[in-house]
Amino acid sequence: MPFTSESRTFCLDHAGVKAWLMEMDPEALQRLWSEADRVRQTHVGSDVHLRGLIEASSHCIRHCLYCGLRAPSEGLERYRMDATEMLACAHEAARLGYGSVVIQAGEDPGLTRALIADLVRAIKRTTPLAITLSLGERSDEDLRAWKEAGADRYLLRFETSDPVLYRRIHPDLPGIPSDRFAQLTRLRGMGYEIGTGVMVGIPGQTWDALAFDILRFRDFDMDMIGVGPFLPSPRTPLGGPAAKAFLAPPAEQVPNDELTTLKAVALARLACPDANIPSTTALATLDREHGRELALLRGANVVMPNVTPVAYRARYEIYPGKACVHETATACQGCLEGRIHALGRRVGKGPGGRVKTQCKDLTACDFHH
Ligand code: SAM
Ligand code: SF4
Repeated sequence: MPFTSESRTFCLDHAGVKAWLMEMDPEALQRLWSEADRVRQTHVGSDVHLRGLIEASSHCIRHCLYCGLRAPSEGLERYRMDATEMLACAHEAARLGYGSVVIQAGEDPGLTRALIADLVRAIKRTTPLAITLSLGERSDEDLRAWKEAGADRYLLRFETSDPVLYRRIHPDLPGIPSDRFAQLTRLRGMGYEIGTGVMVGIPGQTWDALAFDILRFRDFDMDMIGVGPFLPSPRTPLGGPAAKAFLAPPAEQVPNDELTTLKAVALARLACPDANIPSTTALATLDREHGRELALLRGANVVMPNVTPVAYRARYEIYPGKACVHETATACQGCLEGRIHALGRRVGKGPGGRVKTQCKDLTACDFHH
C-alpha cells in the first residue's frame, strides 16, 4: 500500500510504522497525534495514573554503554537505601495519594532476595499500593520470591529489538547471556504484569529497528511501555567521541529528539491500545516546559513522580540534568497534578493496573492485529 500523507491509514505493517516514524509533514502528524489521543481516550480514558518512583540504589554490576550508573562509571557517589528508607518512600507515596510505587535500581546484588521480599511484604502490609519492581536481570528464584511476597509488576526495557545492536551496547555478564525478551516471558509466566520499553535515538538505532521495536510491543502484548529519548551521559562510551563509531549511516540513524520520541509514543499507543504508557522523565528532561504534557496528549496515560529523598536523587545519575532532581516529593506532586488538570485530565485513583479492553475500536484493531 502506498503511504502518501493523504492516503495513509493506521492499518500499519512494518513499512507503515517506519513511514510514520519518518513523517515530517505537520498535517499528517496532526492526524497521528489525534488518532493516538482518541485511542488513548477510548481504551484507558482520561485518568493519568501517578506511580511514585523510588530510586533504591545506584550500584550496578553491568557495563551498559549508554547508562551513567554502569559499573565502570567513576566519580559517582553511589548509594543504596536501607529497607527503612525505602519503606518510608512508599509511605510518602501513599500519603500523597499515589496508587502504586516503582522500585528501581541498578543491577545491584546488594539488593538481596530477602531484603526486597521483606520490603514488598512490609509495603503490602502497611499500604494499599501496587508494587512495580525494576531491578534489572535477576534470577528466576529472586523474581519468584518477590512475586510470592506480593510484587505486582516488573519493568524491564528490551532497549532495542536489534539483536546485534543490543549485544554491542548491553554486554553480557561473564558466562550469562542477556536475553531480556526471555526474562519478560518468564515474568509473565510467574504472574507479573510486564513492562518494557526502548530508548529513541541510541547510536546505531535505525528507522527499521525502531519500527520493529513498536511491533514487538504489540506482538508481546506488553502491559506497560516506556519510550524515552536516549540522553548521552559523558560518563559513558555512547556519551563521548566513541559514539561516532556506533552511528548508523545518516539516512538510517534515528535522532534522539523530542519529535521522534513523541511519534514512537503515539505509535506505541496505536499498537497497544490498552497498555499503560508513561510520559517519561527523559522526555521531560529534553523539554522541561512541555515534554510531559506533549506525551500525555499523544498517547501517554501515566506519570512517575519521584519520591526518592532529594539527597539521593542527583546521585542516581543515569544521564546529566535529569528533570525534577531538586523538588521534594510534595512539590513534584503539586506540579504534576496542576499540569494534568490543565490538560482537562484527571488524576487516576487506585493501583491503575492494565484493564484489557474489548477491541471496539476498528481503526486501532486493524492496526492491532
Ligand atoms: N537497571 C535496571 C535496568 O537496566 O532495567 C533499571 C534501571 S535503568 C537506569 C532504567 C532505564 O534507564 C533503562 O532501561 C534504560 O532504558 C534507561 N536509560 C539508561 N541510560 C539512559 C540514557 N543515557 N538515556 C536515556 N535513558 C537511559
Ligand atoms: Fe545498570 Fe540498568 Fe544502567 Fe544498565 S541500564 S548500567 S543495568 S542501571
